Amino acid sequence: MKEIILIKNGELALKGLNRRTFEDMLIKNMRRRLEPAGKFKFTVAQSTIVAEPEDGADIEEAVERMEKIFGIAGFSRAAAVEKDMETILRSAEEYLAPLLLTARTFKVEAKRADKKFPLKSPEICAETGGYLLRKFPHLSVDVHNPDVTVNVEIRDTHAYIHGNQIKGAGGMPTGSAGKAALLISGGIDSPVAGYMMAKRGLELIAVHFASPPYTSERAEQKVHSLLKQVSKYAGRIKLFVVPFTEIQELIKDNCPEDIFTVIMRRMMMRTAQLIAASEKAGALITGESVGQVASQTMPAIACTDAVCEIPVFRPLIGMDKDEVVAISRKIETFDISILPYEDCCTVFTPRHPKTRPTIGYVEECEKALETDRLSREAAENARVVYINA
Ligand code: ATP
Ligand code: MG
Repeated sequence: MKEIILIKNGELALKGLNRRTFEDMLIKNMRRRLEPAGKFKFTVAQSTIVAEPEDGADIEEAVERMEKIFGIAGFSRAAAVEKDMETILRSAEEYLAPLLLTARTFKVEAKRADKKFPLKSPEICAETGGYLLRKFPHLSVDVHNPDVTVNVEIRDTHAYIHGNQIKGAGGMPTGSAGKAALLISGGIDSPVAGYMMAKRGLELIAVHFASPPYTSERAEQKVHSLLKQVSKYAGRIKLFVVPFTEIQELIKDNCPEDIFTVIMRRMMMRTAQLIAASEKAGALITGESVGQVASQTMPAIACTDAVCEIPVFRPLIGMDKDEVVAISRKIETFDISILPYEDCCTVFTPRHPKTRPTIGYVEECEKALETDRLSREAAENARVVYINA
């Protein structure tokens, strides 16, 4: 029996005229992301996408990958069989046996896209239901809250038979909302922020500031591992590793200690914006959340924002740490994030940071630095690493 995957594209269905563009993008993403599982042929009909495995493709692995592709509300593994009632009944019995044997109740739903098929939907339901009741006598019908819904769809070339739907990752197809630059540290928050914005359809590039020898090679490897995990959802990510040692030392030697962090964050934003511009990315993404640390008070965020000319997306802004941790566990970045390697921020943390810096004070302190030249050079000297799941 031939098995295929049927994809119902949730939120996409709402997009009216743009729907085709979104669908095409989703298919392009699926094609790329399923590649390690083998070749699949994609066709679209009546807001359902059919992924048909070609020779040797691994459907188990494809399903595992499919669960992490944004823009898919739900999908089903289905048997694709000949459009003949006899075959449909026997295939449903055989294909859904593992599901039906452990269920107590079921119902049948039928869709007849091919109006030439001799039975109408209610007749298909009645025949299939009756047949399955005879073959699995322990079952009873429950139309309101069944353990298993048996679906029979009569389409152009085949009849598709499937059981309960698998939940998809939701959101919008990666890339459909444009591109943004994620500032990623080795912490818990920024990978979650990247995941959340990718879910809204943003393609990610990433920027990481490294300060060797204060930060180690392993700290950078940790960022690679985090992004690899995020790329299971977001697709390939181009990472820029920016040398930040000189800037941090200059800040340390020339600026008052209580304002280090805010100046450092402004330098990060300036540099990230230059990289974003060169990559045609229209926004920055950070893992900040109000009040979490001294550099994330409202006045400190205002000082950071003052140097930003493109929007800064902070999807965690109103979240508690435990809510962020729950997501980081779900996307399996948590265990990597808590590895103990130094981040450039922790190396230069002031003892008594100003929690209410003003823009005037920060700008005054920054006069000691050639901020434009330093950020331009940092951006130019960034090293590129491609991260792929
Ligand atoms: P995280 O868990 O993401 O490190 P955090 O709560 O520790 O966040 P900060 O260290 O103040 O907070 O950093 C705030 C945000 O600044 C991070 O979420 C990240 O977006 C960015 N950031 C911090 N350090 C770096 C770095 N070394 N490289 C790139 N971005 C960074
Ligand atoms: Mg941090």
